[in-house]
Order: sequence, then structure tokens, then C-alpha cells
Amino acid sequence: MKTKLAIKKIFVFALLVTTNSVLWAQEQPKGKFSLPPLPYEANALAPVISETTIKLHHGKHLKAYIDNLNKLIVGTPFENSDLETIVKNSTGAIFNNAAQALNHIIYFNTFSPKANQLPSGALLKAIEKEWGSFDNFKKEFTSAATSLFGSGWVWLAKDKNGKLYILSESNAGNPITKGYTPLLGIDVWEHAYYLDYQNRRPEHIEKLWTIIDWDTVGARYK
Ligand code: MN
Repeated sequence: MKTKLAIKKIFVFALLVTTNSVLWAQEQPKGKFSLPPLPYEANALAPVISETTIKLHHGKHLKAYIDNLNKLIVGTPFENSDLETIVKNSTGAIFNNAAQALNHIIYFNTFSPKANQLPSGALLKAIEKEWGSFDNFKKEFTSAATSLFGSGWVWLAKDKNGKLYILSESNAGNPITKGYTPLLGIDVWEHAYYLDYQNRRPEHIEKLWTIIDWDTVGARYK
């Protein structure tokens, strides 16, 4: 029975990894978070994102946020909470590290070496309803990501009625703190692109469109 349960757990875990990285974050052992593996090889997104950048961003930056969070929550009310609960209810250093952990888990699971996909189905319909066309949405999102001052994140998010929004958040901001569900998050901190693009953030954002996995983003919309 134990083996059966374990297999079932692994299956559910794998399903969540592929369909919804936000839920996936909730599957982490409570109170002790670990660095999730990348869903692709570190060199799989090159040349859009180089192997060096992926290795640093995932293996150093994300790892540091997770390690810091594990230390900071000891002896606090968040010691046995899941990641989303911590992001929604914390402030200060705990919030910063928890939100950056969640943001990066969503981020790394948004990309795929399958290039040049486009959104489809219900997500495409919702995008067209809000921005007229996918191209218009892309323009608006690119403009938001290019013009965000300093470090932060630009999100495609939905409200509880399925209406879509482009939300710019500074530093570690995540739309779940305002009641939205994040579907797509682009990291505009310089560490995300500086080694590959130096100060050319617009070029980096433009290239990212070719590695977005719209199947994953679409699954988050459901
Ligand atoms: Mn980052």
C-alpha cells in the first residue's frame, strides 16, 4: 500500500509540474523548501538565454532565495506554511525571499526549447478580448517590460472572472498578493539578462517571445 501511495504521489507531483507550476509550488514539503530542478537542460534555451545565465540564475539566485527563506521562517508562524501562503501573508525579508522563490519557479517553468509557439484556445480568446490581437498584447507587454524602472517583474495575470491584465511589479512583486493568478512572469532584474545582452533589455524581451511555452501558460489559465 505504501508503495502504491508513493507512486500515486509521484504521479500527482509530475502532473502538477507539467500543468501548473503555481500548484506545484504548494507541493513542496512544508517548512523546508528545496531547489526545484529545471524542466530542461541548462543549455536548452540558448542563445535566447545562455547556459551561463541559466546556471547562475537558477543554481545561485533562486537557490539563495530558497536557502534564505528556509533560514528566515524558523521560529515564525510561517515555519509550516506552503510557499503561496507565505507570499500572501508575509512582509519584509521573508516576503522578499518567498516571493522571489515563487516568481522564479513560475518563470523557469514558463520556457521551453520548443520555439515560436503561440497561445491557443481559451487563453487566446481572452487575450483577443482584452487587446484585440495577440500581436497587440505582445506590444503592450513588451512595452511594460521595457519601461519598468529598476528591478521587477511584468506579469500576465487573470482575475477570478478570467479577465486578463498586464501588471508591472517592482522588486519581488507577485500578483497573487492582490488576488490575481499569475500566468506568465518576465524577470526584468538585470541578473536575468545582463551577461547575455548587457544593457539591451528590449532585445532580451523581444527574444524571450520565441521560448515561451504557451501550453504551460494556457494550462495556468484554466
Ligand atoms: Mn531573477
